[in-house]
Amino acid sequence: MHLYELPIHQLRDKIDRQEVSPAEVLAAFYRRINEVEERVKAYITLTEEQAGVRASEPLSGPLAGVPLAIKDNISTAGIKTTCSSRLLANYVPPYDATVVNRLNQAGAIILGKTNLDEFAMGSSTENSGLYPTRNPWNLECVPGGSSGGSAAAVAAGAAAGALGSDTGGSIRQPAAFCGVVGLKPTYGNVSRYGLVAFASSLDQIGPITKDVADAALLLNAICGHDPLDSTSVDRPQPDYTQFIKEGVQGMRIGLPREYFSMDFDQEVKTSVLAAVQRLEQAGARVEEVSLPSADFALAAYYIIAPAEASSNLARYDGVRYGYRSKQNAKLSEMFTSTRSQGFGDEVKRRIMLGTYALSSGYYDAYYLKAQQARTLIKEDFDQLFKEYDLLISPTTPTTAFKFGEMSDPIDMYQADIFTVPVNIAGIPAISLPCGLDSKGLPIGLQMMGGHFAEGKILQAAYTLEQLLAFKEQPAEVGGAE
Ligand code: GLN
Repeated sequence: MHLYELPIHQLRDKIDRQEVSPAEVLAAFYRRINEVEERVKAYITLTEEQAGVRASEPLSGPLAGVPLAIKDNISTAGIKTTCSSRLLANYVPPYDATVVNRLNQAGAIILGKTNLDEFAMGSSTENSGLYPTRNPWNLECVPGGSSGGSAAAVAAGAAAGALGSDTGGSIRQPAAFCGVVGLKPTYGNVSRYGLVAFASSLDQIGPITKDVADAALLLNAICGHDPLDSTSVDRPQPDYTQFIKEGVQGMRIGLPREYFSMDFDQEVKTSVLAAVQRLEQAGARVEEVSLPSADFALAAYYIIAPAEASSNLARYDGVRYGYRSKQNAKLSEMFTSTRSQGFGDEVKRRIMLGTYALSSGYYDAYYLKAQQARTLIKEDFDQLFKEYDLLISPTTPTTAFKFGEMSDPIDMYQADIFTVPVNIAGIPAISLPCGLDSKGLPIGLQMMGGHFAEGKILQAAYTLEQLLAFKEQPAEVGGAE
């Protein structure tokens, strides 16, 4: 077993027992990065020098010596944070995001910043302003997105764990495509301070890890109240690792009928249902349930998210941040050409959609309607979580697709069908691998819980992980030789 193959909790044990030093662990990960990065392209920036200095200092805390990757829309002081956009290609934040601060306090070491779809808009990293990341299971396939770099890095052993952000599925979908674990926390559980805003009422930062125990460890480190984020919730925090124990006896699990009756990849459906059966055999009570408003979720998301994005992205005018177009006669021309040259096509598409949905005359028909649908969706979930501990669905309707296969943006949006309702309702959800399809690509299973039910989700996910014992490794980059 190579060091880069170990989950965080095992690396920590080795470091604690002084079998390896943080510097040796770090060196092993950079060697691995050198081995696979040319093929996978998970990173935008590597921070080898800073990481080396840190590994030589005394480190303490629950993540002491653990090398992690950070999605490149999370601010890092003194380290470029590009959002994979030409507009921020040379932007160096003057401060750390709260999550980065907390990881540092916990003793973690940052390996580098990972690739994403520009401003986190997309599901494949094909919208990256730099280059796409490739799926370590099959280099002709996308790793998912928008946190595709983070998920691919973890899957390839190029990071022990990573942070992603999830506005409509961007942690869970790439985790599913890359055969790793991705957790989107409850809205307000993790500070968004320093996360470059996409759609502020939906965005949440969370961990992407090799296993469920590691997700609990990282969530412990990053969660909790932050006065710098007004939407962060002040409540007592449990130790999430306490939930890493087996048992689903008596847990009530719902399977949303509306999801399973949709037309999607039969292999995905079969694999998810087989996993559910294992939980049932382990003592969970499983029933079919109804989410009548689920039908509106995708449409509501693709109005609310672009509307918020159009407002959030108004700040990139060439005056204060990043790229500025040169040689313009007038200030208004400078604004226009900076934005025309700086943003990629998908970002422009979202800004136009959002601006349209918010403009007078259309506001009531689109934005207001979408907000009303949002309330209905949230009420559906609230109602179900009075009776059920968890809901289970596939994370994605298909496994990883090939580059270029989703050339119509609407097709790409459809891939978010199972993940966006979670963000709309603000609830937590995890994706974990539950098998491989006949092409050898990983299948993701999604568990959703009520607000702040991360503990329950982690316990059920850990139990399922033990039952399934999914040990496959990505073949393309030479996982477990
Ligand atoms: N794929 C979705 C989108 O393109 C979700 C993105 C995200 O969660 N950041 O908007």
